[in-house]
Amino acid sequence: MRQPIIAGNWKMHKTGPETQEFMTQFLPLVAGVEHCEIVLCPPYTALSVIAAASQGTNIAFGAQNMHWELQGAFTGEVSAGMLKAAGCKYVILGHSERREYFGESDAVVNRKVKTALANALLPILCVGEKLEHREAGSTQQVVKGQLLGSLAGIAAVDVSKMVLAYEPIWAIGTGRTATSSDAEEVIAFIRAEVGALVGSAAAEAVRIQYGGSVKPDNAAELMAMPNIDGALVGGASLEPASFAKLVRYK
Ligand code: PEP
Repeated sequence: MRQPIIAGNWKMHKTGPETQEFMTQFLPLVAGVEHCEIVLCPPYTALSVIAAASQGTNIAFGAQNMHWELQGAFTGEVSAGMLKAAGCKYVILGHSERREYFGESDAVVNRKVKTALANALLPILCVGEKLEHREAGSTQQVVKGQLLGSLAGIAAVDVSKMVLAYEPIWAIGTGRTATSSDAEEVIAFIRAEVGALVGSAAAEAVRIQYGGSVKPDNAAELMAMPNIDGALVGGASLEPASFAKLVRYK
C-alpha cells in the first residue's frame, strides 16, 4: 500500500520570518493527519526555520534543487550533503522551471538523482510535457524520454524509494488542471514504463504525484485515482489554511 505524499513547492517565496508565521498557523491545522505524508520544500534560506518548527511533528521537508557534485568551486550552488545536514528528507529534481530557465537536461537531472540517492536524500523527480507536445499527441513519448534519461542507471531498489511527479507544464501555475482521468492515464503510463525499466516490484512501490494547479477543491478527485499517490503543489501550498485544506482532502 503506497502512502500518498503531498508536497508544497514554495519556489522563490517566503523569507525566514514568513516561514515561521506559516508554520505557526499550519501546524495546528494538520496535527494528527496520518493518511498522507506532508512535505514542505521552502527556499534554502528557510530550511532551518522549517527544521526547528517541524521537530516532533508529522511534517517532513526538502529542497527544490541541488548540485550533482558534493563540493567544490560552484558559486551559488548547494550540495546533497549540505541538504542532508540541514535535515532534508527530499529534494525536488528536474522541475520544469529548472529545465526551462536553467537549461537542465535529462543527463544533468540523472546526475543529480544519483548524487541525491547516494547521500540518502529522496528525489522528487519531475517530468511533464509542454502544451505543444500534448496538442501534437506526443505526451507519452516526451514523458518516456524524460523518465529514461533521468532514471538511467538507477537500480530498482532506489527507484522504489523515489517519488515521481507528473507535472504537465501547461497546468503549472495556470489554473488549468489536467482532468483526473488525463492525469491518471499518464501516471499509469509512467508506472508501466518504470516497470519495463526496472521491474514490476519497483513500479508498484514508487509513489507518483500529480502536479499542476492542484487546489483544495480538486485534490479529492485527483487523489481518488488508483495510480495517483499524491500531489506536488505550488501556489496552493503558500497559504496555511488553503494547504491544510488540500492536505485534508479526504
Ligand atoms: C509546481 O510548480 O510544481 C506546481 C505544481 O505549481 P502550481 O501548483 O502552482 O501549478
